[in-house]
This record gives sequence, C-alpha cells and structure tokens, in this order.
Amino acid sequence: MVSLFAESLTCPPLQCSVAEIRAGLPLSREIAYRWIRCSDEELPDLLSAAVAAKERFKPKVITYSRKIFIPLTNLCRDYCGYCTFRRDPDEAGAHTMTPDGVLAVVREAEKLGCTEALLSLGDKPELAFPEMRATLRRFGYKSTLQYLEAMCTLVLQESSLLPHPNPGLMSAEWLRRLGAVSPSMGLMLETTNAALLGPGAAHDNAPDKVPKKRLRTVEEAGKLNIPFTTGLLIGIGETPEDRVDTLLSINELHRHYGHIQEVIVQNFRAKAKTRMRNFPEPTRGDMLRTIAVARLLLPNVNVQAPPNLSAPYYDDLLDAGINDWGGVSPLTPDFINPEKPWPHLEQLRIRTERKGYRLQQRLPVYPEFVATVISRPGLLADKVRAVADADGYARGLE
Ligand code: SF4
Repeated sequence: MVSLFAESLTCPPLQCSVAEIRAGLPLSREIAYRWIRCSDEELPDLLSAAVAAKERFKPKVITYSRKIFIPLTNLCRDYCGYCTFRRDPDEAGAHTMTPDGVLAVVREAEKLGCTEALLSLGDKPELAFPEMRATLRRFGYKSTLQYLEAMCTLVLQESSLLPHPNPGLMSAEWLRRLGAVSPSMGLMLETTNAALLGPGAAHDNAPDKVPKKRLRTVEEAGKLNIPFTTGLLIGIGETPEDRVDTLLSINELHRHYGHIQEVIVQNFRAKAKTRMRNFPEPTRGDMLRTIAVARLLLPNVNVQAPPNLSAPYYDDLLDAGINDWGGVSPLTPDFINPEKPWPHLEQLRIRTERKGYRLQQRLPVYPEFVATVISRPGLLADKVRAVADADGYARGLE
C-alpha cells in the first residue's frame, strides 16, 4: 500500500498536473499513481480532464454493441475466486451448447437487430475433464478451440451476425485461425499483479490467469493485426497502482502494434457461493478514478464499462470519460453476471442523451478497425461489409 503522505515530500503535488492533464499532455506512471488515489475534492478536476480527453477522441457520441451472449460451454479448468459462470462437469447447470442450440439463439437475435454474437466459454476444459473430451468427440472436434472455430464459421455462414470470441489464452496459431472467422476477439488481462495467483487470492488455482501468458496472447494478436478487446477487473485484491501498471502494459502493446480496439474497466461484484463472496466491492469512487485514469493513459483507445454492473447509477460513468457501454443484449442474460440484468436499450438511450451524448450502435469490431478487416478478401470481409455503414458503424439500425 502506498502512503501518499510519506511520498508528498518527493513527488510533485497533484495540483501541478491539473493544467497538464487538461491540456492533454501524457500522464506519467508516477502522476497516474497519484491521480488514481486523488481525494474527493480533487476528483472533479480528474473527471473534467478525462471527459475533455474523451471529447477530443470521439466527440458527442457513446457507442454500444447490440449482441447476444452465447455461453458455448461453462466448463472451465480454472477456479477464479469470483466466478459464478464456471462449472465442473458433475455440477448442476454444467452445459455445453450444441450447434443447433447456437443457431437457434442466433436466429432470434437477428430478428432483434443484433450484430454481435459474443461467444464466451471456459478455458480449455478438455484438458481437465474427460466428459468435455467425450462431448467434443461426439460433436466431431478434438478441442474446445476447434469447436469454437466451427461455431464462429457457422454464425458467419448462416446469419448476419459477426462472432466475437472470448475463449481465454490463445496461441499465435489459434489467434490466426479464429481471426479468419471473427472480425475481433477479446481476452481480459484483468491485472498484471501475479501475487493474485497466490494461495487464497483471486487467481489461486487459475493457471490461465498468469499475467505474462495473458500479455503474450494480447501481443500475438497485435503481431497478427487482430482488432482486440482487453481490460481490467478491478477490486479483486489489486492496488490502485496495479491498475495503473495494467493499463500501462496494455498501452505499451498498443503503441507497438496499434491493435487494442477497446479497454474494459470492469468492477468486481461479490457473488454468493463464490470464494470471494465476502470480499469488499469497489466503490463508485474507485470506478470513476480508474476509468478517468484509463482514459487519460489511453487517450486514443475506446474505454468501456458495463452498465449492468454499476446499475442503477451507471450513467455516472459517463462523467469519467468512457465512450462505450459494451455489448448490450435485448435477448440473452449476462451469463457471467446473471443477477445483474442489462438495462433496457431505451433506458440506456435516455440516460446517455440526458448527459448530452448520442447513443450509436457499433459492430463488435470498432469503426476505426473495420477497414483492416475488410481489406482481407473472403467471407468475413463480405459479412462485415454487409452490416457496416460508410463510417464503420452498424448499418441502418438506429
Ligand atoms: S473467470 Fe473465466 S477462467 Fe476464471 S473460472 Fe470463470 S470462466 Fe474460468
């Protein structure tokens, strides 16, 4: 834990950097450490600088993606302390969707104007569970990633939706294969603090949450020029300084490869029946400070926060410089946070407009990355072209 009092003799006073951040000057690590712990009195300065940065990046607009959530399998070999999604094969609710099941949800979603099929799943369950190996064999696949690739292809071939897979760690080869059937994909970095892998911590017994491995996946995606979503999970035992370090690691990769389309700032919510059910949740102030610092550290990257995890006061997050609400489904629940329903789209629009912004539907791939995807000939490019308007947003659905 850093003591601000002890540091105040050596570090520049926070007030000195107000003019600098308002002018859009880059935030150093040291100054970011201090802003992320700013007092309530200093918070308005931080927020107004963050909103000014957001307006320089994408003025007057807040985006969202109309999506359906496809929980392809909730079997997972990891045991994150906060997760209610995962199951062992013998647990109630353990489920792997069939191709017909995927197609049925996709057909419904098309009728509701969805353009994103978010495929979420546990990480490599077949390595831990013979039951998953048997299921995959029955479907005709050797691995979960191979099955995922087939389902992304099915979505592309059979519907107007665009897949956005979120399967956990991926090798360069799997990124390449999935990148051929999805315009974008994602992996939450969550945190660069490896101490959270320790006994009793959030990522104890979660071998796929090793920060270096996750950073490697994000980097390999960069080498392949894949539009990539990543982000932070805050409140899982990391310090505010860890959040800054995590943001700076993402920024370093983005500066090198230019492929980070979106950084999500997600807040931990304590859920019954999890190891971390009694863990304190981040406060509204924690969220505002982290989002604002994210916006200032990544001035040209889309910053998103999920509205359902900050209900009923989610519109406050607009005051910290987000420019996107993420995927919002008119059809399926948030299977990762099923007790937190998404706001009705009309409500989202009203709240967004009340703050002076226009709500605009985007595709899973952000407008500035659409040209990259459609420059590669093939079915994926054709499908993206069919649903994108001239500016790269979702065509004619607003
Ligand atoms: S958060 Fe993801 S990796 Fe961790 S247990 Fe849940 S499904 Fe598995």
